[in-house]
Amino acid sequence: MKKNDEVMLIIDDLGTNGEGIGHIDGYALFVKGALPGEKVRVRLMKLNKNYGFARLLEIIEPSPERRMPFCEAFGKCGGCTLQHLSYEGQLAFKDKKVRDCLSRIGAIDLDKVEWLPIIGCTDEQSQLPLAYRNKAQFPVRQDKDGNPVIGFFAGRSHQLIPVSSCGIQHPRINAVVEDVLHFMKKYHMTAYNEESHTGLVRHIYVRRGYHTGQIMLCVVINGRKIPHEEEFIQHFSKMEDMTSLYLNVNCEKTNVILGKKMRLLWGQETIEDRIGGIGFRISPQSFYQVNPQQTEKLYACAAEFADLKGNETVWDLYCGIGTISLYLAKKMDAQKGGRVIGVEIVPEAIENAKENARRNAISNAEFYCGAAEDVAEKLPQSADVVVVDPPRKGCDAKLLDTIVTMKPERVVYVSCDPATLARDVKILEEKGYRMVKGRACDMFPQGGHVETVCLLTRKAQ
Ligand code: SAH
Repeated sequence: MKKNDEVMLIIDDLGTNGEGIGHIDGYALFVKGALPGEKVRVRLMKLNKNYGFARLLEIIEPSPERRMPFCEAFGKCGGCTLQHLSYEGQLAFKDKKVRDCLSRIGAIDLDKVEWLPIIGCTDEQSQLPLAYRNKAQFPVRQDKDGNPVIGFFAGRSHQLIPVSSCGIQHPRINAVVEDVLHFMKKYHMTAYNEESHTGLVRHIYVRRGYHTGQIMLCVVINGRKIPHEEEFIQHFSKMEDMTSLYLNVNCEKTNVILGKKMRLLWGQETIEDRIGGIGFRISPQSFYQVNPQQTEKLYACAAEFADLKGNETVWDLYCGIGTISLYLAKKMDAQKGGRVIGVEIVPEAIENAKENARRNAISNAEFYCGAAEDVAEKLPQSADVVVVDPPRKGCDAKLLDTIVTMKPERVVYVSCDPATLARDVKILEEKGYRMVKGRACDMFPQGGHVETVCLLTRKAQ
């Protein structure tokens, strides 16, 4: 086999990013856009020692799971990489991805674990979950005619693929973004240019409360202010659902979206949403789950795994605005000493968490700001149950040490990256815990990411 050869291939698997994988005499070829069960014609592109990449030329026998992608940017944008796969197929793929990680990286024997079916997000009308996201951060650039456009960066590149709207966003979010582009055109506001580090508007950031409909708009600029600020405020504050208008100043040469300086132009500092009957105020800097319908199911699963009697002390590490903390605290009995201690590194999120506890009259939750790996060992009370929900890089080794030394009965691990989850579960297994239950949850329909909840209990000594 050599580069540029055309070959026939049967696809037998999907890679972690949703690429088809086929084998020729045991040699694996990755084919973007191809699905398991398909017979395809491909051109060999890059051949490494143990695996190679090929370009899809023709689908000779399509999979019955193949669907028409809904988005013009499919295959180019790094986002919804599974659009060409039926939703059932997406769920099966994600479930398998998590299980594979747990057994390969985590050395877990899944036959000895209660593995529950993945929590899907089935939209009864269309069978195709779309328009679910409550948050968008679109980069803005100038197109070749000088007009501001939004889009996505292709893969990990800096090349912007323009899109007119995004199918997984709530329609109001797309509409607000479009309106910002109109405003920019009307008032000749320039878009950012990364190469020359000139131009004003870098990102349009919009958030929407699912239950309240409240909208937060934040324009990220390479500069201190926008021209026609008055008109901007007047125009956007008129929208019925607009709740919060911000400018964010980011003059750095960086990929980080938000700069340090956040200026409220108009309205409330936070927008509000509800989960499990609890109201949450959310600052622009705070993390908040992006798929509100699935979030309820994810937290319900975490609570079920935590199996609280009501009198325990629970640590909720990486707690964000205190969503899981308050969700659990509300189910506990403060009179009997049941309480939750939340830890989070972003100060604004901790402020939100404290305010959220107060406003919901939840007295048995307290919050500490700092890195979980530093704060946990100094917390005022040890825990019977620990919940962790770290970012993709997983838990710090030092934190896992603190947890095993404290010997809580249960650890509920909520994860957005199966590989680091498996790594951490392995460490916990080696240090006295056993994984007893697990369940994946699809928070990101059409995309390759997947959320997982695992329960580990302390082995009898
Ligand atoms: N449980 C929350 C947040 C999960 S996202 C929810 O469901 O909404 C992970 C959170 O961990 C983010 O809020 C992030 O700011 C925070 N974080 C990242 N690194 C951290 C660290 N070292 N210590 C504590 N929190 C951290």
